[in-house]
Amino acid sequence: MTLAASVAGAAYIVAALLFILSLAGLSKHETSRRGVAYGIVGMAIALVSTVWLTAAQAWGDPAALVGLTLLVVAVLVGGAIGLWRARVVEMTGMPELIALLHSFVGLAAVLVGWNGALYDTGLTGTLADIHHAEVFIGVFIGGVTFIGSIVAFLKLSARISSKPLMLPGKNALNIGALVAFVALTVWYVVTPELWLLIAVTLLALALGWHLVASIGGGDMPVVVSMLNSYSGWAAAAAGFLLNNDLLIVTGALVGSSGAYLSYIMCKAMNRSFLSVIAGGFGIEAPSGDDADYGEHREIDAESVADMLTGASTVVITPGYGMAVAQAQHGVANLVQRLRERGVDVKFGIHPVAGRLPGHMNVLLAEAKVPYDIVLEMDEINDDLSQTDVVLVIGANDTVNPSAAEDPGSPIAGMPVLRVWEAGNVIVFKRSMASGYAGVQNPLFFRDNAQMLFGDAKERVEDILKAL
Ligand code: NDP
Repeated sequence: MTLAASVAGAAYIVAALLFILSLAGLSKHETSRRGVAYGIVGMAIALVSTVWLTAAQAWGDPAALVGLTLLVVAVLVGGAIGLWRARVVEMTGMPELIALLHSFVGLAAVLVGWNGALYDTGLTGTLADIHHAEVFIGVFIGGVTFIGSIVAFLKLSARISSKPLMLPGKNALNIGALVAFVALTVWYVVTPELWLLIAVTLLALALGWHLVASIGGGDMPVVVSMLNSYSGWAAAAAGFLLNNDLLIVTGALVGSSGAYLSYIMCKAMNRSFLSVIAGGFGIEAPSGDDADYGEHREIDAESVADMLTGASTVVITPGYGMAVAQAQHGVANLVQRLRERGVDVKFGIHPVAGRLPGHMNVLLAEAKVPYDIVLEMDEINDDLSQTDVVLVIGANDTVNPSAAEDPGSPIAGMPVLRVWEAGNVIVFKRSMASGYAGVQNPLFFRDNAQMLFGDAKERVEDILKAL
């Protein structure tokens, strides 16, 4: 091994350790900023050492210099586009941006796999067999991740309907595709012919599209974290092909942490992990909802302000609408003002509120809401029956009583914030429209619930003025 390779190997170990510290840091509010910093430093070390290693190996070799130039140009162009997107993306656009980024990892794994197949490695015997299996697995995982992430991007950005696609025999199609993949892999290892690689690429694209298209709106959080996991395994597969230890370690870290996150999200939504990763396996098509829930009542901002001044306990349950309205700073001011008046204010955060795991926590941290009053759903649910006022700010599915009370509802069984048990519930939204899962919310028609219509940010400002 050359000196350059040894130094790069050492740098890769440091980068891998920093990635592990980053994941550990990201698991808690208090340490999340440090976690991000570790991740940035780790990635910088990884990038610099890869460029340096390539430069050291290319020195004096005109052919390799072309590769080095391409690498530097790609890093600069990719870095510039990444910087621009990260600066302009709205918080509400993050989930679809992340889905799109996962698709790049999938595409990269497909390209690396194809490159590995077309490039003559000179391997023979068992080593060649292993190489062919790596190529096939990398192309397959990459293809599923690539197209699945594109479908997730289209669904999350509302470019296509978030309704689940219900093809007849969809479970048989998914299982059939997996069986075909195993059979094709064995065939390719025995006779590595190009048409088999083309077939597995098409099979992976079809399966990726079908897996994600079959999943309904309410289960999308699991899909996003699941694709995150797939993108990790795709990167690890590319790492094996490129013989790059750091890519293998990083891919395995992303793959396993994404799988664990998917498991947590499934538990939070009371869904079977296997059924969701198998593409909505066993999930019935949602039934239409024509029920008549009666009349809803409206309230204005002044009356809400009066109600809040008379309350001794207030719980705020934010949702996607708070992110759309960018109401978090107003909400933070409101909390501060109420606390100054001696009102006990807490937040109740549903694990899938918003469009991204941890979406609400990020917004509240950005608005400098103290961490100790931000409670998880399980920590706050039992207190809601003793709460005077609940402010539901732009949340809908996550506070929908049908999940707990209507076994026929498409979101049946998903644990929700039981806000309807509180003395008064004020729902901030612009209309009577349903939430992301497309299910009507009977909460809005309950006797203790009143609607405060309009943009959440403007309504919060109105309440602040009235206070
Ligand atoms: P929902 O998506 O159920 O509802 C959000 C509500 O916000 C809507 O009913 C909308 O009503 C209202 N709203 C939108 N804009 C504004 C605005 N400017 N001012 C006031 N209100 C507004 O939100 P939840 O957070 O309760 O639930 C999240 C849903 O998203 C769940 O179904 C979850 O499964 C899904 N999901 C979650 C992901 C995650 O990782 N967290 C990822 C993908 C999907 P109106 O239009 O009338 O204003």
